[in-house]
Amino acid sequence: MKKCCYYFGGGKSEGNAAMKEILGGKGANLAEMTNLGLPVPPGFTISAEMCDVYYKNNRKLPAGLEKEMDAYVAKIEREMTARLGDAEKPLLLSVRSGAAVSMPGMMDTVLNLGLSEKVVEGLAKKTNNPRFAWDAYRRFIQMFSNVVLGMEHHDFEHELSTVKKEVGANFDTDLKQDDLRNLVRRYLTLVKEKTGRNFPSDPKEQLIRSVKAVFASWNNKRAITYRKINNITGLLGTAVSVQAMVFGNMGADSGTGVLFTRNPITGAREIYGDYLMNAQGEDVVAGIRTPKHIADLATKMPEIYAQIEKILNGLEKHYRDVQDVEFTIQEGRLFILQTRNGKRTPSAAVIIAVDMVNEKMISREEAVMRVKPGDLDNLLHPTFKPGAKRKVIAKGINASPGAAVGQVVFSADDAEAWAKEGKKVILVRQETSPEDVGGMHVAQGILTSTGGKASHAALVARGMGRCCVVGCGDIEVDYTKRQFTAKGGVVVKQGDFISVDGGSGEVMLGKVETMEATNITQYDTLMKWVDGIRRLKVRTNADTIHDAEVARKRFAAEGIGLCRTEHMFFAPDRITAMREMIIAATLEEREKALAKILPMQRADFLGIFKAMDGCPVTIRLLDPPLHEFLPQEEGAQREVAESLGVSVDVIKQKVNNLHELNPMLGHRGCRLGITYPEINKMQARAIMEAACEAKKAGIKVMPEIMVPLTGTLAEMREAKRHIVESCKAVLREKGMKLEYMVGTMIELPRAALVADKIATEAEFFSFGTNDLTQMTFGYSRDDIGSFLPEYLEKGILPVDPFQSIDQEGVGQLIRMGIEKGRAARPKLEVGICGEHGGDPASVKFCHRVGMDYVSCSPYRVPIARLAAAQAVVEERKTAPKKAKKAKPARKASRKR
Ligand code: ADP
Ligand code: MG
Ligand code: MG
Repeated sequence: MKKCCYYFGGGKSEGNAAMKEILGGKGANLAEMTNLGLPVPPGFTISAEMCDVYYKNNRKLPAGLEKEMDAYVAKIEREMTARLGDAEKPLLLSVRSGAAVSMPGMMDTVLNLGLSEKVVEGLAKKTNNPRFAWDAYRRFIQMFSNVVLGMEHHDFEHELSTVKKEVGANFDTDLKQDDLRNLVRRYLTLVKEKTGRNFPSDPKEQLIRSVKAVFASWNNKRAITYRKINNITGLLGTAVSVQAMVFGNMGADSGTGVLFTRNPITGAREIYGDYLMNAQGEDVVAGIRTPKHIADLATKMPEIYAQIEKILNGLEKHYRDVQDVEFTIQEGRLFILQTRNGKRTPSAAVIIAVDMVNEKMISREEAVMRVKPGDLDNLLHPTFKPGAKRKVIAKGINASPGAAVGQVVFSADDAEAWAKEGKKVILVRQETSPEDVGGMHVAQGILTSTGGKASHAALVARGMGRCCVVGCGDIEVDYTKRQFTAKGGVVVKQGDFISVDGGSGEVMLGKVETMEATNITQYDTLMKWVDGIRRLKVRTNADTIHDAEVARKRFAAEGIGLCRTEHMFFAPDRITAMREMIIAATLEEREKALAKILPMQRADFLGIFKAMDGCPVTIRLLDPPLHEFLPQEEGAQREVAESLGVSVDVIKQKVNNLHELNPMLGHRGCRLGITYPEINKMQARAIMEAACEAKKAGIKVMPEIMVPLTGTLAEMREAKRHIVESCKAVLREKGMKLEYMVGTMIELPRAALVADKIATEAEFFSFGTNDLTQMTFGYSRDDIGSFLPEYLEKGILPVDPFQSIDQEGVGQLIRMGIEKGRAARPKLEVGICGEHGGDPASVKFCHRVGMDYVSCSPYRVPIARLAAAQAVVEERKTAPKKAKKAKPARKASRKR
């Protein structure tokens, strides 16, 4: 029989931090902290394996669990010299959830378990604090009824406000012992009314039912949503920690709070967080009362503060990462209730990782692993323009940075619905609760009127990298009227635009202008380390001189992996020449039109070569079907006819001729250049002439001419023949020598299958994984909207294959293509130019299969660089001694 429970207490534990899988993060860390000698109330953790069995057992507790629990409760009782259900020496317990991966607030917790009408009297007597005892009891009834009996919070809130009104109390804390006693009566009656049964007074029954309820909360809606958003899979379930209660609500020398060992927003090295005196844990997180800054505690309770400081330092050193710590002070005595790695903003993640290396706490490699590649995206995102007009209407607490502009909505459901329609929304709430995560995820920003830096809204927003302002007391939210009123009487209705500054906490009316963020010094340091570690080169996809410059200067792209030439034709002054070429009836006419395009292309290429001095530039020849350059509507066709000086029928005729049932599989890619060699010849000439000119100007050019959509060796041979002919002619005319390569995209499954043959002609491969994914799955990327969401929902596909490479299927073609290609041409240069080149998981895959580079959009270049470095670190971790299997071609051979 499997061990069900693991004890922690008395300075030692049966578990430790390495046992997250079965003890959950919370349970494992409670055990670890106990082992470290920290003041943790004793308890035990029920293994997550039991949660798994519970579900497999049709929601019954595993055999043997109850017996083991009894024994462990007895252990707590001995340590605490108190007993569950004993009125003389009452022991109260908390029942806490916690999975291997932290899911803050997503599952349920029951506090103050063990109270009953009999025990509450005993607790009152023993603590000499009847008010506290009755307050604890009413909290327990409410929590248990909600978590275990499925009753609604607002039923209880209603009773609470009724009693408050009756006695003229403003705050909960104004209620006297008799009021609370009265409130408990009302609560108990309410439970009887709603459930038809008495509230359970047997502590054993309370405990068993709470454990079951916590297991059940593993599969509540918000937990499922949270796991989906965060891609959390493969866990056993939640562990349950049963722990002796300590009380932060026993009077003026009691309190509770949540702290970070460093500032999770700015990354600064300072203790950061909030606390509340005379409060029980949930009060801080729930955002109902607005808590105090922890610095206050240093003056109020200097000894406790010093103790906290020491513990926090110790915990950070021990875990070698920022810790998020919950504590409670009971009558002047400190207890630690939880520690976990602290969630932080993307910029704080970078700052902290680099600082910790400088403090010699972690290695550079570890620092590189500490930053999520996708988070860099956030870091490089816009902020508000400094000089931009701001009509500030309110100010709250800056909980998570960013610049959000959007339309106001007041519920998470509305946020989701509006976002689906493509609207940018800002979710405005009094406070948020775990049910709201879906809406928070789709919102540009989150604004709450109550709550502190450790409130639910703040925590979740930071984890998502979402802009968030909390505790904005300047606004009054009215859900029924769907509007909020700001201090000066400004009324903002649902649908109105506001701007939220997560950095300053300001809320502005209307849309404030944004700009790109500036970098932080730690970012540059981190990226230097990243570049020292990675092996993959990172190029960019850029069609314009501007993009090429941005990618090179700002994001350190190491060349262009895909320059799409067709985009160059859409400018108004150019499309006419292109259309002339298309409607031309003879080769002569076509060449005449192409001759007009040539200088335009040459100028573009020259600019791009200049921007990429010293780096390779891969230029793809014309790819889309020609009909894309002609308008489909009558009116526009008329205009085109006029500008070309032909009758509209000529255009109509041409559009008809070019019409294809399935353009994606039609006359496009290299097929165009085979039927119209003059197009390829013109493009090759433009590239070569620009390259010669650049070289003369002292620029190091490395052109790579790329044929799209090749499927057979013969296609490649034919296309290459035309290209080389043109290039040679230019070099002859100029009397120059210049290295260049002619290669192909691999974007058809057939190309991967016969890659060895194609590589006899192609000097480089670039995997066009957008088309390769379309062609391999047989999905049209433009038409997946009707089924892909359901596929993902039902788990038919684990991820959207257009976002992250399908490593199993498409990936197999890539592996084979590389292997076969390099078998025929050992120094074959291989890269990827699909959008996957900026997806971290795909970048890591590209590293593992031995590509030379990835190429992605300019803004994703830093993400790809980081992911490429992480791939190296991961490789070293998994195979420390094995020689690297997939080696890239050292240096691709270049043609003279
Ligand atoms: P979550 O995962 O939602 O943070 P926790 O298990 O940490 O849930 O419980 C929520 C809150 O309940 C904690 O922040 C803490 O303040 C309080 N709590 C839990 N266990 C105890 C305990 N043994 N004594 C006092 N307070 C507790
Ligand atoms: Mg907690
Ligand atoms: Mg393609």
